[in-house]
Amino acid sequence: MSKDYYSILGVDKTASQEDIKKAYKTLAKKYHPDINKDSGAADKFKEASEAAAVLGDPEKRKQYDQFGSAGPGQNFSGFDFRDFAGADVNFDDIFDSLFSGFGFGGQGRGRRRSQGRDLVAEVSISLEEVAKGSTRELHLQRQTSCEKCDGKGGFNFITCDTCKGQGTVRHTRRTPFGMFASTAACSTCQGTGERPEKQCEDCRGEGRIVTRKPIKVKIPAGIEDGMRLHLPGEGEATGRNGEPGDLYVVVRVKEDGRFVREGSDLRIVLPVSFVTACIGGEVEVETFDGKKKVEIPQGTQPNEELRLEGEGLPELRGRHSGDLIVEVQVEIPKKLSKHQTELLKEFQKGDKKKWNLF
Ligand SMILES: [Zn+2]
Ligand SMILES: [Zn+2]
Repeated sequence: MSKDYYSILGVDKTASQEDIKKAYKTLAKKYHPDINKDSGAADKFKEASEAAAVLGDPEKRKQYDQFGSAGPGQNFSGFDFRDFAGADVNFDDIFDSLFSGFGFGGQGRGRRRSQGRDLVAEVSISLEEVAKGSTRELHLQRQTSCEKCDGKGGFNFITCDTCKGQGTVRHTRRTPFGMFASTAACSTCQGTGERPEKQCEDCRGEGRIVTRKPIKVKIPAGIEDGMRLHLPGEGEATGRNGEPGDLYVVVRVKEDGRFVREGSDLRIVLPVSFVTACIGGEVEVETFDGKKKVEIPQGTQPNEELRLEGEGLPELRGRHSGDLIVEVQVEIPKKLSKHQTELLKEFQKGDKKKWNLF
């Protein structure tokens, strides 16, 4: 049984590749023989490197977890780090080549495609637009694919001489473990394996240009404040050999002077004369579809709620619409004519007892 690589690195068995990389980095910086001249430091460095080389490789790690060893031929104790003595050690270089050599990172195999930047925009809509749905045209300044060369950066493509059409080039690097070979995207052709005989003048070979090309955004009815719409491919173009990023549009819903939103229901306060409240009657109420008639029943009380079914907001998903809640506000007149006062006094006569009047 070999050593416990997990405890050497000070990580537990569930540690992610990133955790292992980080743990090794910390230990290596502490014990690297160029930095730490203590007698035990070199051994510690060696031990940590061995552990990282095994646990840093998903395949070897699996084998190690299962069998307690990284399999035959996995002996890392023989390397000679004196190669590094006196050299200017760049740890990031070491780690990157080490881990790409051992399976970390996952890039460098075959042609690499890049992705353009994602963009975020915000639009502000009215509650009426929530009710009916809406569209907006955005004019964001962004990198878009060059139309003249169709995003290719040029015309008449021929095989790249640098990478012989492979799209990748091999680099060898010296590390504490010896020489490591890694592959990277060819910088001449940006990993495409070909280059244009004639470069596009519009984009100067970039395959993309800065524009304010309009983006049409469809805003669905029923959307809620703060929701985000996802428009794939409407972010920035990355130029040759890549996918554009995505656009995210955050929707803000402005407050409405008349209606208050309650989920998919709408609430409105409707002033009604005290006479209508007493004897009932038909009045009009505003909706986003124009004015609608509403029946005030006899004896309606202040703040009583009436519901107009389906006159609220449409649900974002589904065919149902919410209700319009009409909150009755009974208005008491501040001034009455003489005649009105007489009528009310007359009305009150029958009620005197109930109200303890004299
Ligand atoms: Zn190339
Ligand atoms: Zn172009």
